[in-house]
Amino acid sequence: MTISIQGVSVSRGIAIGRVHRIKDDQIDAPEYIIKSKQIDAEISRLNEAIKNAHGELRAIRDNIPSSTSKNIAEFINTHLLMLEDNALTEEPKTIIREKLCNAEWALKLQRDALVNVFDEMADTYLRTRKDDVDHVVNRILRVLLKQTPIIEKYPEKQLKNKLIVADDLTPADTVLMQHYGIAGFATEFGGSTSHTAILARNLRIPAVVGLHGAKKLIKNDDYAILDGDSGIILINPDETILNDYKKKQKEVKKYYVSLEKLKDSPAKSMDGIDITLMANIELPGDFERVRDVGADGVGLYRTEFLYMNRNNPPDEEEHYETYINVINALRGLPLTIRTVDLGADKEVDGMGRRSSHMRSNPALGLRAVRLCLKEPDFFRPQLRAILRASAFGPIRIMIPMLTNLDEMQQVLFMINELKSELDNESIDYDSQIKIGGMIEVPASAICADIFASKLDFLSIGTNDLIQYTMAIDRVNDEVNYLYDPLNPAVLRLIRMTINAGHKANIPVSMCGEMAGEKEHTKLLLGLGLREFSIHPATILEVKEIINKTNINDLERLTDEALMNKIKK
Ligand code: PEP
Ligand code: MG
Repeated sequence: MTISIQGVSVSRGIAIGRVHRIKDDQIDAPEYIIKSKQIDAEISRLNEAIKNAHGELRAIRDNIPSSTSKNIAEFINTHLLMLEDNALTEEPKTIIREKLCNAEWALKLQRDALVNVFDEMADTYLRTRKDDVDHVVNRILRVLLKQTPIIEKYPEKQLKNKLIVADDLTPADTVLMQHYGIAGFATEFGGSTSHTAILARNLRIPAVVGLHGAKKLIKNDDYAILDGDSGIILINPDETILNDYKKKQKEVKKYYVSLEKLKDSPAKSMDGIDITLMANIELPGDFERVRDVGADGVGLYRTEFLYMNRNNPPDEEEHYETYINVINALRGLPLTIRTVDLGADKEVDGMGRRSSHMRSNPALGLRAVRLCLKEPDFFRPQLRAILRASAFGPIRIMIPMLTNLDEMQQVLFMINELKSELDNESIDYDSQIKIGGMIEVPASAICADIFASKLDFLSIGTNDLIQYTMAIDRVNDEVNYLYDPLNPAVLRLIRMTINAGHKANIPVSMCGEMAGEKEHTKLLLGLGLREFSIHPATILEVKEIINKTNINDLERLTDEALMNKIKK
């Protein structure tokens, strides 16, 4: 009988094969009392274990195949940095001294304390960072207890083409597994924003997480199908299901190969309307992919990743160097840099400042441009760096979360001040640099005509626009049923924004996830959208639909959607 278990889809694709169960990752730390005279020896034992754990991770990072995206090493670097952090290197030593306990127990107590802090955080991204603490502590514990890490102890051949089922996997495991040629993986725990999930997407490994109770139902060597699109794992599928999936798998492969030939041709509807397809990027590994998929440029460069996993915000030089790297990778294509959008769902340590989570409604609090205007010293280095970089390539500045005109005028004023500063220092910049705003709040969509009269371009951020229109927290799965791009209120706001841009004769793009969901492509074209900004992985899928669409035929579809007549 086929058993089907539903989890959370984190990386698309279908994988079929035999299951390889990875044993429970939890390690029981032994507890014993030591004598005062043993304190130094116990601390040396801990130091040695941390050093060895560091060496193991460095070896994994240094052996990442050169074909792998460059940013993958960054994930391992995060764990290396944690191994250097006082919270893990010094605090356990204090515990050893004060409690006269062994190194393993001191490490366990410190892990519990850190995990408790993460557990209390409202932000999903940060909450899943506790997995990183667990992974790093487990690595040190294994060295102390002379155990081999889970994946490293399996010979390469044993994992090839297997479906890995585990409690949880570390980013280092994920990199090794790709190296070993696994077909896909499923875990009991983990969320869609964990580093392991992000890595799976980057490495294109089909993956499902959050399969609670899967361990009881899935045995080693079971034959299974992992459907990364719908987040399902099917154990011992019957002949019909298996054949269906094999067919689907072949079709998906053929489909992706067929899309490749669209890379060098423009996106043009059947009735001859040119559409601009830009890319959304965030990690250094994405920079090169923009050209690889034939995008027309970058419509959204999310700069928040520059602030993650660190204690202080990046300085002007770091911003500048990063932007120059992107410009070089784009070789002449336009780059839209979104100024930093921190706070709410994008809370990071690198703010080095107060957290919006100290308030009860972080999504409605001090985030994005609000935070930047409140703390100009935090904002200026980024703006100055963008201006300086604009001397070397076509850059546009994009302001997130504009809510009223006053905010926009304050940003424009600040940019003008910085331009004068650069003039005085004889530093080059593009004096005609285009400045645009994101429309992600109903207030700004309703007043899009006012924004359009003052800005050079608009970009619709549907991820937030839907959140604020429907009055739901975009990271709260209990109200996810209301997260509906097709709600006519959302569609009407989108149409108002597009019309306002067209009237003012400025470009309007859409850079929220909706722009990359191919089931919405026709509707967006019908609403008048002519510029899409989407993740490089989906650009060709959307291009294919555009090329097969007659935009003049879409009036009925659009009218019905605006009247809530479209069935989901
Ligand atoms: C959006 O809100 O649609 C958007 C593109 O911005 P982010 O997802 O980064 O908030
Ligand atoms: Mg947004």
